[in-house]
Amino acid sequence: MTSPDAREVWFLTGSQGLYGEDTLRQVAEQSQRICDQLARNADRPAAVRWLPVLTDADAIVRTMLAANSDPACVGVIAWMHTFSPAKMWIAGLDTLRKPLLHLHTQANVELPWATIDMDFMNLNQAAHGDREFGYVQTRLRVARKTVAGHVSDPAVVPRIHSWMRAALGHDALRRLRVARFGDNMRDVAVTEGDKVEAQLRFGVSVNTYGVNDLVEAVGAVDEAAVTALVKEYADSYRLAPELAADGARHESLRYAARIEVGLRTFLTDGGFGAFTTNFEDLGGMRQLPGLAVQRLMAEGYGFGGEGDWKTATLLHTIKAMGGGRSGGSSFMEDYTYDLTPGKELILGAHMLEVCPSIAADRPSCEIHPLGIGGREDPVRLVFDARPGPAIVVGLADMGDRFRLVANSIEVVPPTEPLPRLPVARAVWRPTPDLPTSTEAWLTAGGPHHTVLSSAVGAEEITDLADMLGTELLLIDAGTTMRQFTKEIRWNQAYFRLAGGL
Ligand code: MN
Repeated sequence: MTSPDAREVWFLTGSQGLYGEDTLRQVAEQSQRICDQLARNADRPAAVRWLPVLTDADAIVRTMLAANSDPACVGVIAWMHTFSPAKMWIAGLDTLRKPLLHLHTQANVELPWATIDMDFMNLNQAAHGDREFGYVQTRLRVARKTVAGHVSDPAVVPRIHSWMRAALGHDALRRLRVARFGDNMRDVAVTEGDKVEAQLRFGVSVNTYGVNDLVEAVGAVDEAAVTALVKEYADSYRLAPELAADGARHESLRYAARIEVGLRTFLTDGGFGAFTTNFEDLGGMRQLPGLAVQRLMAEGYGFGGEGDWKTATLLHTIKAMGGGRSGGSSFMEDYTYDLTPGKELILGAHMLEVCPSIAADRPSCEIHPLGIGGREDPVRLVFDARPGPAIVVGLADMGDRFRLVANSIEVVPPTEPLPRLPVARAVWRPTPDLPTSTEAWLTAGGPHHTVLSSAVGAEEITDLADMLGTELLLIDAGTTMRQFTKEIRWNQAYFRLAGGL
């Protein structure tokens, strides 16, 4: 986990030279005070850095160019403390390539009714300074999030933090390299997609590597590293007796550990943040990687099964957004339903690869047969997901654009124990209810592979979609099919027009 101060957002304050040095000194002092309240907040997901007050077009362009080129800067917050005639912002806003948040605030909370005079009025005029700035942003079609309210208001800061988390995801996505071992599962449609468009739109670079390159890395792992990792497994999980050092199948556990070390070495050496596997293309691998994938996800790697690079990409991005929060994020697949009327639930899992960051309790490490893949029985972690609010998010390629589909959900304990299900799983109640959620998801063409996250919510995902200029269809407590169907139709027109004719 990287420190919250490894990345920063810049706090820009707009004004103009007309007011004279005295007023500008007060503007600077007040804006530092507002910035400090954000910078000192214990929940901040990134550092907040104050920059000197901007009063002319050249300084604004220089600042935006610096923001673009500084790898530590993940986004820019702008506040027009006084009046900053917005033509001076045109070139700068047109230059900025990092996410933007327009903070509509002011230095004081209450009006000083008894003492207010024209000096106070002239010093505290964000009410119209920010309107001038809002106009020019909209006139230039600048994507941004607008947050209004005083920074001491407990409702305001979490919205800024959501945007900061989305900016961290945006930053991770722009630098992400994905390694694919093998191509897509044969004949599957939704895991396909335009990797060139993804690189242009999101920044992520997706490339394929021969699975036997991985087999070679696994073969090169030394026995001491395997032994150390097997000890870590025994310390971390409830180990099935047959996998223990004196157990009949201990050698399978050692091979699983060998895969983990080899895979991690391959990913580290190549600078990869996400990867995919495909059970149809395992080359010389003796087991389908299960335990290794689960543990690498828990370290922050994105993963998609069956060659699904889009979900692998999304998982790494969402993990970067959720850093430092208590919840987790995992690769997930809608598997089967409980259709008991009024108590409908979704049971999600995968063949093996669910991330232990969402586990309710200490996972158990087990070995069971796997009907597909035609290899030795794979080792895997088995657990139930932790109950609580969460979101599932999928990414589909619609041919002319990417579409995110998300559903706010409540993870619940399994209604009964699942003693014969040998994989990690999550049980959830979708909003607004299962029929509406699934009808909406299917109508949207959302994928069966998703990211399930209890570390981020609808606001972070919405902010991310806006930063990426990517469509998001959100299914939540307010969703009705009547409105959702219209939204899909309207989006079809909007995204065509927004993308240019
Ligand atoms: Mn799958």
